[in-house]
Amino acid sequence: MTAKSTFDIAIAGAGIVGAACAAEFASAGMKVVVIERDMVGSGATAAGMGHIVVMDDSEAQFALTRYSQQLWHELIPQLPAEVEYQKTGTIWVAADEEEMGEVYRKREYYAARGVATEVLDAKSLAAAEPNLRAGLAGGLLVPGDAVLYPPTAAAFLLRNAGCDLWVGKAVARLERGRVILQDGSEILAGTVVNATGSVAPELTPGLAVAPRKGHLVITDRYPGFLHHQLVELGYLKSAHSVGSDSVAFNVQPRRTDQLLIGSSRQDGTQDADVDRQIVRAMLSRAVEYMPGLGKLKAIRTWTGFRAATPDKLPLIGSSEIPGVYLATGHEGLGITTSLATGKLLADQVLRRESAIPFTPYLPSRATLVQSHA
Ligand SMILES: Cc1cc2nc3c(=O)[nH]c(=O)nc-3n(C[C@H](O)[C@H](O)[C@H](O)COP(=O)(O)OP(=O)(O)OC[C@H]3O[C@@H](n4cnc5c(N)ncnc54)[C@H](O)[C@@H]3O)c2cc1C
Repeated sequence: MTAKSTFDIAIAGAGIVGAACAAEFASAGMKVVVIERDMVGSGATAAGMGHIVVMDDSEAQFALTRYSQQLWHELIPQLPAEVEYQKTGTIWVAADEEEMGEVYRKREYYAARGVATEVLDAKSLAAAEPNLRAGLAGGLLVPGDAVLYPPTAAAFLLRNAGCDLWVGKAVARLERGRVILQDGSEILAGTVVNATGSVAPELTPGLAVAPRKGHLVITDRYPGFLHHQLVELGYLKSAHSVGSDSVAFNVQPRRTDQLLIGSSRQDGTQDADVDRQIVRAMLSRAVEYMPGLGKLKAIRTWTGFRAATPDKLPLIGSSEIPGVYLATGHEGLGITTSLATGKLLADQVLRRESAIPFTPYLPSRATLVQSHA
């Protein structure tokens, strides 16, 4: 006979998304268990940059990132030091006058939706970040954006939730009302959640989620070298291609005075090894914007896999199996949008009113079905 435990909610995956869902269900008084095959925050959460950023790729993406950023802000008084939360702001860097056009468009978009921004001309950009190269056109400062250290944030959310955490146990199957572990034991739960990030299709076959590889480099400590999260405006266009892969200038100041340098995107690979060609392309892009980076000492390079969906929005809601829910597909925004994901998932399961509409993120949405076909 196999052992059986009973919970209200069973969540597969203790990345930041699983942790945020656990925290939300637990705060609603539910008995929650999280099952993690490796360590807390060991998937994309360990690999990510931790940029908490409002984005404007689509109205649905804006709504989710904005809502979630506000939830992070509300949590600030409770965040322990090891979460390394810093309100650095983001500067979207414009290389030329054409990109300044995008700065003004972005400013209008954010202003119309209540997000504070400041347009920087060439001089004020240089004053804000003296290590940027001369000759850049300017930028858009979004002061409300922040950075944090994702694995400790996930651990904090789980600790705060006070839920059961089963680490070192792999989930083999998710079924209506139960979770079957690879060791043969079973968990009975009215609601089951697949929060396993880029490997979610292993537990929910046919899911429109694919791994998108990314590289990051971290430097030694350089106090005062960088003050804001900097992202080139070409970032969303993924304009700087290496074959079908892309790199962009994206650099983050850590509270440890280290710099985190990104970023890259590669589809169609599950090989976790560092790709030297991509790292070279990524660093040379970074040095084009910040020549001084070339003189700093890099101490580690790693890769991670974002969970990409065809329409660039996450999957938050019921799967095709009643009682089995999905919280995955957050691509490069899962640290930002984790808290809103927890809220929207709990709103659906507990039939609560939600602060923003959850329909754009439902796994059954028409856009996803069409683009997946
Ligand atoms: C290079 C890079 C940079 C990024 N930068 C940012 C950023 O600046 N800002 C931002 O908001 N987002 C960023 N992201 C995206 C962000 O990291 C992810 O969206 C987020 O971490 C996803 O969290 P998750 O909990 O869904 O998945 P994961 O963190 O991947 O967690 C899934 C967990 O499930 C576990 N698991 C898998 N299978 C099983 C199983 N069968 N049984 C039990 N457990 C299982 C895994 O071990 C893992 O711990 C970045 C990602 C990358 C790769």
